[in-house]
Amino acid sequence: MSINHHNLNVDQQEIDKFSAIASEWWDPDGKFKPLHTINPLRLDYILNKTGNLQGKHLLDVGCGGGILSESLAKAGANVTAIDMAEQSLSIAKIHAQQNQLNIDYRLESVEHHLQHTTQRYDIITCMEMLEHVPEPSSIIRCCAALLKPQGQLFLSTINRTHKSRLLLIIGAEYVARIIPKGTHDFNKFIRPSELIDWVEKSGLKPIELVGMEYRLLSNHFELGPNIDTNYIAYITKP
Ligand code: SAH
Repeated sequence: MSINHHNLNVDQQEIDKFSAIASEWWDPDGKFKPLHTINPLRLDYILNKTGNLQGKHLLDVGCGGGILSESLAKAGANVTAIDMAEQSLSIAKIHAQQNQLNIDYRLESVEHHLQHTTQRYDIITCMEMLEHVPEPSSIIRCCAALLKPQGQLFLSTINRTHKSRLLLIIGAEYVARIIPKGTHDFNKFIRPSELIDWVEKSGLKPIELVGMEYRLLSNHFELGPNIDTNYIAYITKP
């Protein structure tokens, strides 16, 4: 299936980058290793805020190979998951089938999804994706429209600081080579103040920001107050 990306809030070069390495989505030591590493942390955080996911309608925006979508489905959520990289979705679908998980994967942008569904969601997650789109504020506006009243939104992205450039671009891409060169563009990193401004302009309420901090010495991530690199924003709809 081909889609006309003209005028969409989609950067085709970004989609191509993810498509090219789609076969590695489920390799825990492959190019998506950092996402596998942070997944238990962000899952715990989400479960802590939402409680029981059983029967909840959940949308995962920019789902990739489904690392987060699957763990949310396993926790009982009724998951719809969208992405613009067809290769990633193929991998996601096969993997979910192998694990007997019923996830509704769709090749759609969130803007398109909003136009074509009457479904409204209890929970929306959009993790590590906003820094890859031309206009992140549009994603947030669409999530706001797709949420039910009292719905919960979880966004995660990367702060635009000297430390994030050093750690996530120079360190992770060039020195340690944990992730492919060119994965991140520093200028597209998002300051918490910018994110909060978009959230509030969409009529949503930011509740909490929490850092996903990398501990160099013990080589692991943990949640904490320091939001100068990766962070999660927990947001609700009034
Ligand atoms: N959310 C997943 C994957 C993050 S990688 C996780 O955290 O595990 C970023 C993903 O965003 C990629 O799969 C990429 O294809 C997707 N993406 C980038 N731009 C997009 C857009 N405009 N619409 C939907 N998905 C997009």
